[in-house]
Amino acid sequence: MRTVAFHTLGCKVNQYDTEAIWQLFQANGYTQVDFEAQADVYVINTCTVTHEGDRKSRQMIRRATRNNPESVVVVTGCYAQMAPGEILSITGVDLVVGNQYRAQMVDMVEKVRLERVPYNAVSNILTQKEFEDLDVPVFMDRTRASLKIEDGCNHFCTFCIIPYARGLVRSRKPESVLFQARRLADALYQEIVLTGIHTGGYGEDLGGYTLANLLRDMENIDNLLRIRISSIEASEISDDLLLALANSKKVCRHLHIPLQAGHSEVLRRMNRHYTIEEYAEKVRKVRLALPEVAITSDIIVGFPGETDEFFETTVQFVREQQFADLHVFPYSIRKGTPAAKFTDQVPEDVKHERVARMIALADELSLAYAKKWTDRPLAVIAEEIIEIDHVPHVVGHADNYLKVAFTGDETMLGQVCTVQITQPDKELCLGTMQKTAYAM
Ligand code: SF4
Repeated sequence: MRTVAFHTLGCKVNQYDTEAIWQLFQANGYTQVDFEAQADVYVINTCTVTHEGDRKSRQMIRRATRNNPESVVVVTGCYAQMAPGEILSITGVDLVVGNQYRAQMVDMVEKVRLERVPYNAVSNILTQKEFEDLDVPVFMDRTRASLKIEDGCNHFCTFCIIPYARGLVRSRKPESVLFQARRLADALYQEIVLTGIHTGGYGEDLGGYTLANLLRDMENIDNLLRIRISSIEASEISDDLLLALANSKKVCRHLHIPLQAGHSEVLRRMNRHYTIEEYAEKVRKVRLALPEVAITSDIIVGFPGETDEFFETTVQFVREQQFADLHVFPYSIRKGTPAAKFTDQVPEDVKHERVARMIALADELSLAYAKKWTDRPLAVIAEEIIEIDHVPHVVGHADNYLKVAFTGDETMLGQVCTVQITQPDKELCLGTMQKTAYAM
């Protein structure tokens, strides 16, 4: 039996893609082994979002070529899409497949194995019009399943390389999404996370079927407890989507709405398609549709031209929005993007100072959100067991994405537990179980 080993860099979509590629190898009789073991095939699913992503990708490619010089080394993902020539110049790389033609990867591996001639299967992704439909019916995490519903992005933010690496928005056909969602629900996954490079762009290429339509159709799936939207842009929150959120009993009270900067001039230079007033208005409407929703966000600190005054405005705006959590990134120059050529770059020491302040604010806001739930019950899906002070605790996420631990055992895993929050925390809240766990 042939063996395959995987290493995945980067985001959740890459993790999903690796799972999907593994399904293809498994269907062709392969078994999976650890990346450090001797394998017949190594697949490195790369990231290029920053230059650090490129560097780490190259490091893992070299490691694979050293592990077993006889093996077939395949490089896929975003760095592969952007720099196939650079990757093929690394001795020992046999095959480069970008962010398309993954469905043919196993056949290509067989061809390369026979011919032993390195092969470049990357072509122009910006001309791709179809979503590459690759299924993942089983996940390691038995409670939460990802369901990739789209690929690509049409936004071309000036700091971001992703549209060039992933292409334009391609949505998965609604019948394919619903078929897969039903299968996951039948396999007793309690929660489905709708993912994509630009999840909120779902339907832009479907001639009228939107994310709101999809949520309404998924609402009717039996045995499915929760639907989580991984991320959505403020500009994509339509009135129809707000209506779908308000009428849903399954959509989680958690939306990740990237802000990136809290000053309209910085947003304009980022090409973000909204002003801070428009963003605030969308947040206000979301809070009406989903009371007590956890709104989380991304902030890029130190974007070119971000003055002290602009940064202070961002700090104030972030505080006003009362985010439940923030991912804070210092701006880093990405070659090939418009912002890399902006001349008013912010010095590194200033960026570091601003990142530290923004992280401190993020901690304060996360704790404030968690405290709102003190002495209140939340439905938590039990995911894993950890020890706290030598006592086994069940850990899981509530629908508002608070992570909660409470005393319990393995029999509860995969079940829904009603838990009263006793000690709120920005990372892991403690609680006590109120009602016996139940399966859906
Ligand atoms: S919306 Fe902007 S940041 Fe997000 S993937 Fe598209 S171009 Fe990149």
